[in-house]
Parts: sequence; C-alpha cells; structure tokens
Amino acid sequence: MIEILLCVAYEHEPWLVLLSALICFAGSAAIMQLLDRGRAMDAWLQRFAWNFLASVAAGATIWCTHFVAMLAYQIGVPFTFDPVQTTVSLLVAIIGANIGFNLAFSPIGRVAPLLGGVVVGLAISAMHYVGMNAYRIDGIVEWNRGYVVASVLCAVLFSAGARFILDRETMKYRRVAFVALFGISVVSLHFIGMTAMTIQPLALSDGIPPETMLAMALVTAALGLLIIAAGVCAFLIDDRVRLESFEKMREMAMTDGLTGLPNRFRIREELDHQIALAEATGSGLAFIAIDLDRFKEINDTHGHKAGDTVLATLGQRVAETLDAGEFIARVGGDEFAAIKRYENRAGLTDMLERLESALQAPIELDMGRVGVGASFGIATYPEDAETPDALTNNADLAMYRAKSDTTRTTCFYDPAMDEAIRERRELAADLREALERDCFELHYQLQKEIGSGDVRGYEALLRWTHPERGAIPPGLFIPVAEENGLILQLGEWVLRRACHEVSQWTNPWKVAVNVSPLQLADVELPKLIQQILLESGLSPSRLEIELTETAIMNDRARALHVLRQIKALGVGVALDDFGTGYSSLETLRAFPFDKIKLDGSFMADVEKSPQALAIIRSVLALGKSLSIPVLAEGIERHSQLTILRREGCDEVQGYLLGRPGPMPDLGPESGAGLDVFPVQLSPDSRRAG
Ligand code: C2E
Ligand code: MG
Ligand code: MG
Repeated sequence: MIEILLCVAYEHEPWLVLLSALICFAGSAAIMQLLDRGRAMDAWLQRFAWNFLASVAAGATIWCTHFVAMLAYQIGVPFTFDPVQTTVSLLVAIIGANIGFNLAFSPIGRVAPLLGGVVVGLAISAMHYVGMNAYRIDGIVEWNRGYVVASVLCAVLFSAGARFILDRETMKYRRVAFVALFGISVVSLHFIGMTAMTIQPLALSDGIPPETMLAMALVTAALGLLIIAAGVCAFLIDDRVRLESFEKMREMAMTDGLTGLPNRFRIREELDHQIALAEATGSGLAFIAIDLDRFKEINDTHGHKAGDTVLATLGQRVAETLDAGEFIARVGGDEFAAIKRYENRAGLTDMLERLESALQAPIELDMGRVGVGASFGIATYPEDAETPDALTNNADLAMYRAKSDTTRTTCFYDPAMDEAIRERRELAADLREALERDCFELHYQLQKEIGSGDVRGYEALLRWTHPERGAIPPGLFIPVAEENGLILQLGEWVLRRACHEVSQWTNPWKVAVNVSPLQLADVELPKLIQQILLESGLSPSRLEIELTETAIMNDRARALHVLRQIKALGVGVALDDFGTGYSSLETLRAFPFDKIKLDGSFMADVEKSPQALAIIRSVLALGKSLSIPVLAEGIERHSQLTILRREGCDEVQGYLLGRPGPMPDLGPESGAGLDVFPVQLSPDSRRAG
C-alpha cells in the first residue's frame, strides 16, 4: 500500500493526477445516469442504445483517465506512445464495457449483474495493460506480478460492486456509491498497475518534449470530458422530451375529448385544491352536480352525431360563461360538474344563473332547434360535507332530487331529504352485489283450504340476509329492486328457485310465486316461465303466480296479453292484496283469475270492526258470483278463522297456520299437516300469534 502511495506521490505530476481523477469521477457519474436510463427501458433496442452511449462514456472515461495519468507519470526517462496500440486500447475499453453492460442487463439469470460487472472490470484492466504496451520508454521495464494481479482484482471487485449498487433502488446514497466504486475500480487499477512497473532508464532518445506532453494531456482531458458531456446531454435531452410527452399525456388524460372541458379526474384534483384554498382563506365553496334534462331524448330521436354536437356546443357555452375562480368539467355522458369559490352567496347564485341560461338556450341543429336544460344539485363546503367524496356525493343526491322534482331545476343538499335517497342507493348497490353472490333464500308459507283443512300449497317469499344489516324485509328491498330494474333478474331467480325446490317435494302441492309489475310488463315472461317449468320438470298446474292490480293497471292491454299466455301454459294466476288498491270490478271481469287474495289488513280487527267485516263479506260475495275462490291473508287468531269459516271463505294463510320458513320437510308426518282446525292451537302458531 505504501509503495502505491509513494508511486503516486513521487513519480507523478500532482495536478495531472488530479485532472485524471476528475475525468474518472465525472465520467463515472455520467455512466451511472446513462446506465440507469437503459435499465428503465422495456424495449431491448432502446436499452441497447442507452448501453451503447454508456459504453462510449465508459471507454472515454477509462482511456482518458489512463492517458492523462500516464502523462502525469514523470520519472525523468524519455517516452513515446505507439499510436496504433493506443487507439486499440481505447477500442478495448469501449467494446469491453459494452459487452459487460449488456451482459449485466441480460435476462440470463441472477448471475447476470455479477458477470457483467466482472467483464467491465476486466475491460478496464485490458485497456490499461494494452495501453501500457503502447508506452515506449527508454529503459528496461520489469513487472511485479503480485501488483499486476492485485490491480486486476481491484478493478474487477470494485466494478462488480458498482454494478451491484446500481440495482439497490432504495439505498440512500446509491448514486454516490456507484460513482465512488466505479471511479475507484479505474483509478486503483491504474495506480496499482503503475506500482507494479519498475524501469531501469537507458536514455537513448529524447522522448516527448515537456510542452508537447502538456498539450497532449490537456487535449486528451478536454476530449474525454467532451465525450462524457455528450453522453450527459443525450440524457438531459431525453429527460426533457420525456417530461414534455408526459405533460402532454397528462393533459390528454385530464381533458374530455368531445367538449374540450376538463374531465372527472381533473375536477377531482381541482376540488382537492379548492378545498385547501377555501380552508386557508375562509371563503365559501360549492360543488355543483349538473345533469342534462332532455339529452337522452335528443340522442334517441336525432342520433348520436346530433347528441355529440349538443354536448360540444353546451361545453363551449358553459366554458365561455366562467369567471375567475370558477371551474367546470364534463364528468360523464350528459353529466357536468362545477366548482365555485365565493365570498358571499350572491356570487354562487350569479354563477348558477349563468350556467342555467347557457344550458337552457336552444341549440340549432341541421334537423331544427332543440332545447336541453339541466338539473343542478349543490353541496357547500364545509356546511354540507368536509371531504371531496362526501361533497360530490351530496351534490349528486341534491341533483337527483332536482331531477325528480318537476317544479325546480336547482336543489341545495338537504340531509333530511337526501339521506333517504342515499340509503336507497346504497341498498340498490348491495342488492346488485347480493344477486351476483347468490345471497337470497326462499321461505314458504302454508295455504290451507278452510273447510277441509287440507293443504293447498305454499307461497314462496323472498328472503335477503344483508351481511351487515341482517334480515331485510322484502317490503323494503323489493321496491328498490323495482326502481332500478333489478327485479327482473331477482324475479327470474325466485321463479327458477321455487320451481326447482317444489319439484323435489313428494306431495303434489302448489307453489305461489309473487310477480312484480315490471316482470309482467316484459313480454318474454311467458316464455321464461315455460322454460323454467321445462328445466325443473314441475307441472304447470302446480305453479301459481301472484300479482297485484298495479301490475295490470300500468299497461292493461299488454298485461292482459301476457297473463293470457301464462294461463295458456296451465299456470294459475292469483290477484294479490285485493281490497287495498283499485279493487276494480273491471279487473276481475277482464281476466279469469284463479284466486283472489284478500289483503291481510282487513283481518286485523275483523272481530270488532263492522266495516272490515262488510268488506270481507262483499269480496267473498264477489268471488262467489264470479266463481273465483277467495283466500284470506294474515290470519293470526282463531277468532278470525271462525269468522272466515262462517262467512264462507275458501282458503286461508297466516301466522296461525304457519309462519314462512325454509323449505318445509314434506313427509306425511310433516308440519304441513299442522291441524289448527277446528280449534286447538299448535305450539308453532301459539308462538307466532
Ligand atoms: P304478499 O305477497 O302479500 O305476502 C304476504 C306477506 O304477509 C308476507 O310478508 C308474509 O310473511 C306476511 N304474512 C303472512 N301471514 C301473516 C300474518 O298472519 N300476519 C302478518 N302480519 N303478516 C303475515 P313478507 O314476506 O314480508 O312479504 C311482503 C311482501 O313482499 C309480499 O307481500 C310481496 O308483495 C313482496 N314479496 C315477497 N317475496 C316476493 C318475491 O319473491 N317477489 C316479489 N315480486 N315480491 C315479493
Ligand atoms: Mg303474495
Ligand atoms: Mg298479499
């Protein structure tokens, strides 16, 4: 070690040594940037190109460091350089480094980085010793093998270490460590290599004059630094281009292509920013959800091209109405959203008026004028919500209210009114998920003939156990499913499940399945029922559908047409909840129902209420005259049963006979035969009642 230091201190010109070290470490820094960029490339060609630049920079660094350090070597003996071998040594450095770098990044396995680092270390060594061969000196040169081996080992070890560091992304001083290790591998090789050499001077010729040597040192250093700088420039230019294209892509990703307005991602970003500003300045902030009113109509009647023109025109118009501090974006098909930061409410009202008139003014299309209009929902920060998500949600809720209200186009968020909508929306989302995950079940409730006490069948009733809220009554979730069309899927599931389960029963009892008005409006329903009957093997006579009058009233002609087709299959049709709705005689006349189900609400106080009894009597009389059997629902007490028997009711259903429960065990001794006729109470019904 001391010998190496003595060699550097006494046999070299100090400032030239410093110059060579400067070239070496500056070059190492450039090599690192170029290698890093190459590593990040997926395409092999790009990786190869960056590796090539890195190899040229590495070759120049190694060669210039060596050459300047050789010029710094001054032992008073004349020397010259063989030009061909000196050039070859440069090529050795470039080609060797290139092989090493490509090997280091090749997909040959985990040894690739180590192998690559070793090859680069060998390239540094090869360059040095080929360069030394080009060094012609007047004297006898002797080599110390130990130092030669040590120099090569150092080059290889430090170079492999540098390559190892390159992959340590999370390391704090990764770059500094790489530059240090790579630089040390070049410098240590050179100076240990120089220590390995001893010269016995002969002084036969003049060698290179000192001024020429100085000029050569400076020119070499300048050339080396130039090459390194060229590599760094390539890196910087690429960095700039990448930044610009990234900005361009970001801009595109944040803009709506059709209207040129910012899109939902951009407004979300802006909302975060505006909330921070409002918080800092104490100003008011409003988020405005906007939904176009007649856009779908225009799209359907005039086509998508007209729809696009309408959106583009409206987008341009609203953009033109904006003042400073206002922001608008297109967030969906016909949905826009705006942000307004204001000092007083008048500013917000003013913006709303401008937006409203921009969206209401008619638009000239090729096929004529169209008027669109919009509904606005507004939520303010921090009064209505404090987070961006809650603010947009609440504005949406207010907008839905504005949309369903024919008297207003603008609604401010009102927790009392909008929370119910939120709950329904959440329930709808949960329902959709429950359908996908098959989280429903059917319960069955007994229906019996009142005279004989014989079982007529069971009504299938849908049950949903919510993962967090527990059992949710169908009275709550069926209307939600009807609101968003989910009932079609759900109804099909009920029909299929009921038919399959009932087909397994050993007794030939019927099953009654509730059918929603929306299902009845579907002309495909008879086909679906037929297909399910075929699939399940259930005889059509064992299936009965239950529907309410509302199902028929919506579109009478279509409903009756569908009902006739269902009846033609041999399936029974019962009119459910009779007495609560229209209770129209016309409905009973228009279609030959197989059963009238008298609503359970009449049973509640039948013992005490002469009016309830009068209604029951008249419905029973109606049934008799039309020859349609009547089933009374909601029988909970024996007294009710006694009255119904006396009045001549045909069938009964209610907690007294049995609560709805999972698929009954229908053996001959089963609970289906529970005999509450004529008087005694079963343990089950005693609990129920
Ligand atoms: P619904 O068709 O009139 O069914 C009878 C309802 O009365 C059932 O309520 C049943 O549990 C209840 N009930 C039966 N006996 C008694 C009694 O003695 N006392 C009292 N208080 N109630 C009794 P549930 O199961 O909660 O269903 C409510 C409504 O939800 C059904 O009224 C029906 O309109 C609808 N629904 C249930 N399942 C389905 C289905 O699968 N599809 C469709 N579209 N609607 C269904
Ligand atoms: Mg029913
Ligand atoms: Mg009913």
